[in-house]
Amino acid sequence: MPLNSLDTSLQYIKGVGPRLAELFRKKDIYSIEDALYFLPRTYEDRQHFKPLKDLIVGQRETSFGVIQRLAFVPMRSGRGKIFELVISDDSGWIVAKWFHYNAQYMMTKFKIGMHVVFTGEIKLFKYQKEITHPDIEIIEDMKKDSLHFGRIVPVYSETEGLFQKTIRRIVKNVLDQSLSLIEDPLPEDIRKRHALWDLKTSLREIHFPTHADSLPALFSGNHPARRRLVFDEFFFLELGLLLKRSHVTKEKTQSFPTSQSLKPKLLTSLPFQLTQSQITALAQIEQDLSHPHPMNRLLQGDVGSGKTLVALLSALSVIEQGHQVALMVPTEILAEQHTKTLQELLSPLAINLGLLKSDMKKSEKEKLIFDIQSGSITLVIGTHALIQSDIAFKNLGLVIIDEQHRFGVEQRLLLKKKGHNPHMLVMTATPIPRTLALTVYGDLDVSVMTELPAGRKPVKTKVLREPQRLKLYEFMKKEFLKGRQAYVVYPLIEESEKVDLKDATQMAEHLKKIFKEFRVELLHGRMDGSEKNKIMLEFKKGHIHALVSTTVIEVGIDVPNSTIMVVEHAERFGLSQLHQLRGRIGRGSENSFCFLMAHYMSSEEAQERLKAMEEFQSGFKIAEIDLKIRGPGEFLGTRQSGLPGFRVANLITDQTWLMEARKEAEFIIEQDPYLSLPQYLPLKEALKSRWQNKINLMGAG
Ligand code: ADP
Ligand code: MG
Repeated sequence: MPLNSLDTSLQYIKGVGPRLAELFRKKDIYSIEDALYFLPRTYEDRQHFKPLKDLIVGQRETSFGVIQRLAFVPMRSGRGKIFELVISDDSGWIVAKWFHYNAQYMMTKFKIGMHVVFTGEIKLFKYQKEITHPDIEIIEDMKKDSLHFGRIVPVYSETEGLFQKTIRRIVKNVLDQSLSLIEDPLPEDIRKRHALWDLKTSLREIHFPTHADSLPALFSGNHPARRRLVFDEFFFLELGLLLKRSHVTKEKTQSFPTSQSLKPKLLTSLPFQLTQSQITALAQIEQDLSHPHPMNRLLQGDVGSGKTLVALLSALSVIEQGHQVALMVPTEILAEQHTKTLQELLSPLAINLGLLKSDMKKSEKEKLIFDIQSGSITLVIGTHALIQSDIAFKNLGLVIIDEQHRFGVEQRLLLKKKGHNPHMLVMTATPIPRTLALTVYGDLDVSVMTELPAGRKPVKTKVLREPQRLKLYEFMKKEFLKGRQAYVVYPLIEESEKVDLKDATQMAEHLKKIFKEFRVELLHGRMDGSEKNKIMLEFKKGHIHALVSTTVIEVGIDVPNSTIMVVEHAERFGLSQLHQLRGRIGRGSENSFCFLMAHYMSSEEAQERLKAMEEFQSGFKIAEIDLKIRGPGEFLGTRQSGLPGFRVANLITDQTWLMEARKEAEFIIEQDPYLSLPQYLPLKEALKSRWQNKINLMGAG
C-alpha cells in the first residue's frame, strides 16, 4: 500500500495487525517514523559461524547448529527441572539450559532437527560446554530466512510477546514501504563538509548493514550510518533552538544604556573590588541591555562567585531609566536574604524596593501590589508569588531569575509576560559542561563566571562515619568558642515510618543537650515565615551557633561567619545538592569545614559522590562527575529543560558531533535568522515535523 507520510500509524505496514500494533505501542512506537528510528540495541555476526568446538569459554559467542535432543532434567536441589537442548554441528555439541521457562511453550517451540542460531556466554560445566538462557532463534529455511541468517543481524530491545524475528521483519517492511518517502533535508554542502551519508542509506544500513566488515564500527558507535543520524539529531535540535532565539532576540523592546550615576555610586561604596569574572559578565549584560532587543542570557557561576551583585549592578541601568526590575527566587528565606542584602547595598542610592511573599498580611500585600502597579517600587523581589495573576507592573524592563534550575520553563515565561518583551537574566549555580549547555540552554546567551572572590579558601571536606561523631562534636565546640557557626543539615523533616532517619527535630533536641553552653536552633520548611525569618536573622547576627535545618538552606543562603557544614545521611543527597550545601560555607576569610556523615552501607554510586566531594571543589568538576554517574537524562531532568529526548545520539560520547552540528546551525541562522529563504524550505519543514510541539518555532519562548 502506498503511504504518504511518516506520521502514518504503524498499522499501515504489511504484517502489522491490531495485536502487533499494540505490542509496538508498548515500546512507544506508534508511527512509521517511530519504527524507523527504533534502532538496534546491538548486532550479531551471522555471516559465518564458528564451529561449535571452537567456541571459547568465557566469551560471548554466536553460533549455529541442529537440535538433537530436548530434555527436562531434575535439578540437584530436587526443586524443579532444567530445560535442556542439545545442539550439534559437524564439529561437536553444546548444551543450552534454561532454569526459568514455560514448559508448554518450550515444548511447542523447539523440535528435534530444527536449525537454531544462539548467542550467549559460553560456560564450562563438568568438562562440557554449555550456555544458559541464550538468545535463540529458529531458522526455518536457511535460504529464505535471509533476514535472520547469513548476514550481520540487528538485535532490538524486546517486549514480552514481541520477539526479535518479528521486530526484524516489521522493521524491514517499514523500510521497504517508507524509504521512498524520505527526502534528505540536510543541505548538500553540509553533508559534503562532514562526509555524511544520505538519510535513506543511513536508515537502511543502521538496521540492516550490508557491508561485511562494518561490525567493529557498529559496535563502537562509529558507523557512518549512525554518525549521520547523530548529526541529524543534534543539527535539528540546535537549529530549532537558534531559530527560537532569533525570534526572541529580534523582537523590539526598550533599550537601557549603562548606568552612569547609580552604578558608580554603588561601586565606590563596596568594601571590595569586583572580580574579573564579574566585570566581564556585567559588561556582557550591559551590552545586551543597551540594545533594543530583549536580552536572553544565562549567568552561570559557581556557588559563592557573587552573582547577586552582578544582578543588582545590571538592574541599576534599568532602574536609572525609571523602569522596573523583578527578581524571582525559589525560597522565601532566600527572598528575605536578598532583600536585606540589597537594602544595605542600595541604601545610599534611594531606590524603592519591595519584597513580595505568599504569606503576607492582606493590607500589606494590597499596598505592595498597588505600589508595584503604580511604579513607585522599582525593584521587586519575590518568590513564585510574583507570577500570580494579581501582580501587574507599570513598566517591567528586566526580569532576573535566581537559581533558575529550581523553576520550570512555564514559570520563567509567566514572569516575562508581566512586561512587554522585558530583558531576561537567568542565573544558576549548577554549572554544566559547555556541550550540555548547548542543548539545554541552546536558545540563551551564556556568561560564565569561573572565578571566586579573592581570599576564599577551599573548604576542607571529609566523609565521616558514626563512630567519629563524638570527635566531630568536640571539634565543633572548639570552633564555636572561636566565634564560628555551623549548619547541620538533614534530608527530611520528620521521621517517616519505614525509613530510619534521624529527623531534624529530634536531632536539634539532641544537639541542644550536647552543646549546652551554646545556642542551637531548628529551621525547616514547614515553619511559618516570620519564625523562619527571625531565626535566619539571629543566625546571621551570630547569635545562634548551630542551625539545624532541612534542605531549605540549600540554595543561596549567605552567612560568611558560618564555617562548618555537617550533612547528615550524606549518602542520600545528590552531588549537585551536596555541592550547593557546601557552598554555604567558605564565604569568609576563615577556614571552613564540610563534614559528610555517611552510612557504612552506602551504595557504590553514593560512595562515588562522597569521594568526589572530598576530592574536588569546583562546581564544574563536580557537575562533570555528576553527569558521568547519572547520565545526561537524569542530570538534566526533562521537566525543566522542556527538550525532546535523543533517539540516537549520546550526549557524552557524541560531543564533538554536537559542536559540529551547532556550528552548521549557527552558520545558517546567521544568514537567514527566520529560515525564510526558499532554499531552506526543506529544513524548515523537517524542523517542524521533528520538533512538533516541543520547540515553538514562532518564538515567544
Ligand atoms: P552566589 O553567586 O552563590 O549567588 P553571592 O551573590 O551570594 O554568591 O555572593 C557570595 C558572597 O560574596 C556575598 O557575601 C557577597 O557579598 C560576596 N561578594 C560578591 N562579590 C564579591 C567580590 N568581588 N569580592 C568579595 N566578596 C564578594
Ligand atoms: Mg546566589
